[in-house]
Amino acid sequence: MPSAITFRDVTIKPGEKAKTYMAVTQTPGGQPLGFPLMVVNGSQDGPILLVDGAVHGDEYESGEAIRTIWRKLDPKTLRGAFVGVPVVNVPAFEAGRRSSPVDGINMNRIFPGKLDGFQTEQLGYYFFNEILKKCDLVVDMHGGGVALAISPTVIYREIGSDELQEKAKELAYASGVDLVWKGGGKWGGGINVEGMRAGKPTITVELGGEGRCLNQYVDAQQKAIENIMMHYKMIPGTPDLPKERIIAPGSFEFSTKGGLFRTKKQLRDRVKKGELIATISDLFGEVVEEVKAPHDGIIVSQRTFPTIHAGEWTVYVGTYSVEKA
Ligand SMILES: [Zn+2]
Repeated sequence: MPSAITFRDVTIKPGEKAKTYMAVTQTPGGQPLGFPLMVVNGSQDGPILLVDGAVHGDEYESGEAIRTIWRKLDPKTLRGAFVGVPVVNVPAFEAGRRSSPVDGINMNRIFPGKLDGFQTEQLGYYFFNEILKKCDLVVDMHGGGVALAISPTVIYREIGSDELQEKAKELAYASGVDLVWKGGGKWGGGINVEGMRAGKPTITVELGGEGRCLNQYVDAQQKAIENIMMHYKMIPGTPDLPKERIIAPGSFEFSTKGGLFRTKKQLRDRVKKGELIATISDLFGEVVEEVKAPHDGIIVSQRTFPTIHAGEWTVYVGTYSVEKA
C-alpha cells in the first residue's frame, strides 16, 4: 500500500499533490529562507523519485522542467512519488549567480551540509538530510549557468557497492541522454557523490546554460525525467532511448591567463589532439593563450561568457567511444 510522505511539518498523503515553501531559517529582515518543494504522491506503490535543480543559482532549465512535470502528473494514476525541488539554492538564484552572495560557498561542494555551518551549508544540510535521504532515486539536474554551454550529458559515479553502481547506471541509462560520463569519486561534497555515499542511486544530468533558459533544453530535461519515470513504471509509456551512446569521460581545461575568451567550435564537434579550440586575447587583440584539444574527442561543454580569469573553465573535451544499445 502506498503511504504518506512527511517532510518536516508537511505530510502528503497518497493521491495528493502539494507545493509548499519549506522554510528552514530566516533572512536578516525576518523573511522565511529555505526552498520550494513540489510533491505528487501517487495512489499506487512505486519508487520515490527526487529531482532537484538550481543547486547552482544560475542554472534555470531544470526548475522549469520540474514545474511542468509537477503540473502534468496525475496523483490518481502515478505509481510512487515525484519530489521536485526546482531551486535548492534560493540565495544564489535571487542573485543570478552560481554561488550564494551571502557566503560565496559553492553548494555542490558541501553536501551533506552542516547544521551549524555557513548559511549555504545549513540549507544544504536540510535539503540532504530531510529531503534527499527520504527518497529512493536521485536525479540532480545541472546546467552551464552563466558561463558555460553544455551538450546534454548524464553522469554517474563508481562509488559504493557493485549493486549500487549498477542501480545508478540503470538510472543514468533510463534518462535516454546519449552522452555518458562515468566518473570516479572526485568532487567530494557534490550531490552525485554524497548521494551515492548515502546509498541512494544518484545521477546528474547536465545541459544548457549561457545564462538562458531555452525551450530546447527545458524540453530535454523534461524528456529525461519522463523517460526515467516510464522506465520505473511510475507513468505509462515507453522511454525514448538512443540506439547508441557516446561514452565521453574527460575533464575541463583551465585557463592560465585572463582576457577575452573566444571559441572556434560548437558543442559536439569532434576534435583531434592538439587542434586549436579557442583563444584568449588581451585588450589589444593579441592572443595570450591558445586552448588546444588535450586528446582526440568531442566537445562536451565550453565557455560562452567572454571575460575569463586565470584558472577558469574553458572547454571540456570528452574522449569518444560508442556503445551500442
Ligand atoms: Zn551546476
